[in-house]
This record gives sequence, structure tokens and C-alpha cells, in this order.
Amino acid sequence: MLGFQKTREWVYPQSIQGRFMTIRRWTFAALHLFLFAVPWIPVGGHPALLVDIPHRRLFLLGQSFTATDTLFLLLFLLFLAFALFFFTAVFGRVWCGYACPQTVFLESWIRPLELWIEGDRSQRRRRDAGGWTFDRLWRKLAKWSAFLAVSVLLAGAMVSIFSGARPLWTGQASPTAYGFMAVLSLLWFIDFFWFREQFCNYLCPYARFQSALTDDESLLISYDVERGEPRGRGKAAAEAGNCISCNKCVVVCPQGIDIRDGFQLECIQCARCVDACTSVMEPLGHETLVRYSSQAADEGRTVRRIRPRMVVYGGLLTAILASTVVLLLTRVPFEVSVNRVPGSSFVVDADGWTRNTYLLKVTNNGTAEVPVDYEVALEGLTGADVTVESIELLPTETQTVPMIIRLPAEAIDARSVPFDVRITSPQGEVLVAATFLTGASDANR
Ligand code: SF4
Ligand code: SF4
Repeated sequence: MLGFQKTREWVYPQSIQGRFMTIRRWTFAALHLFLFAVPWIPVGGHPALLVDIPHRRLFLLGQSFTATDTLFLLLFLLFLAFALFFFTAVFGRVWCGYACPQTVFLESWIRPLELWIEGDRSQRRRRDAGGWTFDRLWRKLAKWSAFLAVSVLLAGAMVSIFSGARPLWTGQASPTAYGFMAVLSLLWFIDFFWFREQFCNYLCPYARFQSALTDDESLLISYDVERGEPRGRGKAAAEAGNCISCNKCVVVCPQGIDIRDGFQLECIQCARCVDACTSVMEPLGHETLVRYSSQAADEGRTVRRIRPRMVVYGGLLTAILASTVVLLLTRVPFEVSVNRVPGSSFVVDADGWTRNTYLLKVTNNGTAEVPVDYEVALEGLTGADVTVESIELLPTETQTVPMIIRLPAEAIDARSVPFDVRITSPQGEVLVAATFLTGASDANR
């Protein structure tokens, strides 16, 4: 239909105002605010959201997460997946129409720019159908330049989440960050310049599996066949409240489809056609023929407000959310590991004491700009000497120090002695299990 493999068949959606367009614009504004503001707002000395890939660290609202917090990532991904399942089951493709970056950027930047530079649908179509006049050329060049600027801006906003906004926009980020920004800018430009609705129709995996996530009672945008048919053109159709074949729902559609043909995979449920038909039917004293409905409602069946899949998805979402909150509240913001120096076992010193050497690694995951003192204590090794008493760490700092533990001969009564290293700090307490090797024969005890 859209000529992906052959000649590109351009869609020229007409601009439209209406209730749903207004709701969508406010949603788009909120999403833009999130994208552009979050990398700039400092919380605890770091951006409110920073995914620091080189240091394998995530900063979120003053909390720092490392690779050992992968469980949170798993919970987050599970939450996203089930949220998508839940909202698709209830509201259909609400993501596509209101929150997908493709839709948000096209509606917020590209279509308004196109309207401003090239005019509305009929002017654009007429100009494109003609030859390459100076008027057409300068408008195209101006439009593509604006698209390029928007692509760079959006790519920069996205990369800022990974590199930090200030370093990126002041030229202090890594070459890799600028490389990603260049590639992302190019991809957005190709999308805005040429690909557009074809992304939803040919590339987006969500469009493919959404039919498995919805049921007959999920919300969808549909044409009221019962009231709309038979279509007409004259006064009689208008008075009867039938479709007057004005085609307005078709010309505003960014996917280039006719909603009156029934449910189609290409429909992103943007509700432009609802606003269009409302603008036609309301002045005639009738309700819109294109509206939010469901297959069950269209067929005159009762629509159940609560369905099994909603209960299952909702229950899973609640469980994931509750687990995340509990884990966050009980999380200690530092990490400790105690490992024997590779290849080492035990040494009996000249004074008869037995010596084991470990590597004590402590990471401060806190972001508060004050050094934190970590006290080291041994439990289960009576009479032992330890070379490390405390470690002081700055926010996000890691230190690995050798920790020598010595035990007098009279305190040894087994070949290996299990013990714990207790690390205490204002951030909380962590207990790490370890083993002290003595080399003594159990038979001699
Ligand atoms: S049919 Fe209506 S809701 Fe679907 S994509 Fe077109 S304008 Fe949007
Ligand atoms: S906008 Fe409404 S009246 Fe006009 S063609 Fe579409 S369904 Fe019919």
C-alpha cells in the first residue's frame, strides 16, 4: 500500500485540532519535559537519570546502582513488559498513539514544521505533483534543514541520558558519545525525511504482536457502521446522521488508511480521525461516527470492565512493584567482597602465628558528597589480629586493600575456621562470610 519496495507513496496528513489532539499535545509536552529536563536536573551531585555505561553504573534520583543490582534491572524490564501487556489489554494501542517516540516526535516537531514551511495537505500535494520550481526547492531545503536540526537535538537529548547533558553540550563528552549522537541523528533524519509511517507498518515488532495482547473488549478506534451506513453525500445523509463521505477521517490519517474499512494493523490509534469526524458531525447535530469503542461493544455484546487477563497482569504488576519497593527500602548502598589473594593459602610466621591474606573490596554506592567511614571487624576468629580497621571512601569510590589476618597457635583448633567480616558504616551493616586456613591436621586436635 505504501510502496516500501517500489516507489514511495507519500502520505499527506491534513492538520487537525480537537479534544484528543489537545490531550495528546499535553502528553507529548510532558514526555519532552522528561526527556530534556532529566539529564540536566542534579540530584545528589549527579543527573536525576544517568546511565554511565563505561563505569557500569546507573544514577537514578540520587541513588547509585551497579552491576550487582541487576535484579532491579530485571524487575524494571518485567514491569515494563507487563505494563505494556496490561495497558494494551485495556486501552489497545494507546502507546502507539500517545507515547511512542516515533509518534511523539512526528506530531510535535515534524508535522508542525512541515505545515509551517510547506503549508497544509492540499498545498503540499499540489507542489509535490509539479516540477522542481524555486518555490518548491527552497521550501524542501528549509524543511530538511529544520528536520536535521531537530534530529540532532533529539539525538543529543537521548545521548545525554548516557553521557550527561552538561558534558555533551559543552563539548566535554567522549568521542564515543558524539559518535552515537551522529549515528542517532542520521537515523532520526532518515526517519523524518523518508521513512515515517513505514516504521510502524514494516519494522515495529509491537504492531505485529499487539493482536495477541488485545481481546474483543480492548479499547480501539472504530467506525460506527450501524449509524454511519448507508453513506451518502447530500442533505438526507447529513440529517440522518449517516456518514456524509466527506473523507475528512481519511485525509487526516498519518497512516494513510480509511478507518471505515474496519480494524487495520496500520492503525496506531492516534485518534486524529475521531477529532476529524467530530468536527464534521457535531455541527450537524450528531455524535462522531469514529470513536473509541471495542469489538464487543460494536457487536452489541456486554463489555466486561474486569477480565481475567487484566487481573493476572494487574496482579503481576502489583507484585513486581511491591518487591521493588521492599528491595529498595532494605538496600544497603555499599558493596563488600572478601577474597583470598589468588594462589595463596596460609603461612606460619616465625612467632608461631598463622597468617592468611585476603583482598577486601568496598564500594560506596552512595552519592552524598561526604566521605563515608567503613569500620572492619572480625567475628568467629577469637584472638585474631587484622591489619585493616577502617576504610574511608568518597561517593561512588571503590577501594581494594590487602587484609592480613593472623591467629595465634593456641587459638587454632581446626584445619579451616569459618568466620565473618562485619563492615559497619552510617549507611548500614554488611556481613561477609570467609574461611581462615590453618594447615593444622584435624587428627592432632
Ligand atoms: S485510522 Fe484514525 S486512529 Fe488509526 S492511524 Fe488513522 S487517524 Fe489514527
Ligand atoms: S469524517 Fe465522519 S462523516 Fe466524514 S467520511 Fe469520515 S466517518 Fe464519514
